[in-house]
Amino acid sequence: MPADIKALDRDGLRAAVADAGERAYRAAQLERWLYARAASSFDEMTDLSAALRARLAERWALSVPVVEARLDSADGTRKYLLRLRDGVTVEAVGLPEGKRLTVCFSTQAGCAMRCAFCATGASGLVRDLTCGEMVDQVAIVARDLGRRATNAVAMGQGEPFANYDAVLAALRFMNSADGLGIGARHLTVSTSGLPAGIRRFSEEPEQFTLAVSLHSAVQATRDGLMPGLRRAR
Ligand code: SF4
Repeated sequence: MPADIKALDRDGLRAAVADAGERAYRAAQLERWLYARAASSFDEMTDLSAALRARLAERWALSVPVVEARLDSADGTRKYLLRLRDGVTVEAVGLPEGKRLTVCFSTQAGCAMRCAFCATGASGLVRDLTCGEMVDQVAIVARDLGRRATNAVAMGQGEPFANYDAVLAALRFMNSADGLGIGARHLTVSTSGLPAGIRRFSEEPEQFTLAVSLHSAVQATRDGLMPGLRRAR
């Protein structure tokens, strides 16, 4: 089975293009087709040569999540259930407010953190999402609401820092002018508080935003509510 091209980060896309015998700048075109234009097949990428499209299609699989269900709230919030290429489902939420559209996206299917108040945690971890599956959630919600996403926050299902590399790759595609073009400060990672992830995130060159869910200022209460964090300390 061909590997998923949307599991590649930006360096990976450049390597895929180089492996197919093309110059690196073609990677920017490929990125635009994958994320800015949401192509669902290599055939749509008409500014790439037919030979490159054929080589990419031989080596890589390309898919776009399908909207399985949609739920509207009176305040304009729209909640989505999206089906991924292997049948796994994840949730995303669009929150329009004035000129802003914030999209809350999932970083994992299920979650291993077992927070006491969370239905996702009760079902355990199914799998990590790829970077492309995260970018697609934001792009699909924005398209469905007919406007550009101005903000995105990793606050759906999953603990983002338990899938660190894919989350960072997704933020970079969301931030890229060839991807979704969202400003770095408008891209937020909301963590339950994994210390190693927080330290690493603080050293990234981009000015992405960090949010930490405390739920209690009392450590013992917090340990009871969020048992997954005890192992991470
Ligand atoms: S980290 Fe988030 S998704 Fe995971 S169990 Fe806790 S609240 Fe739920």
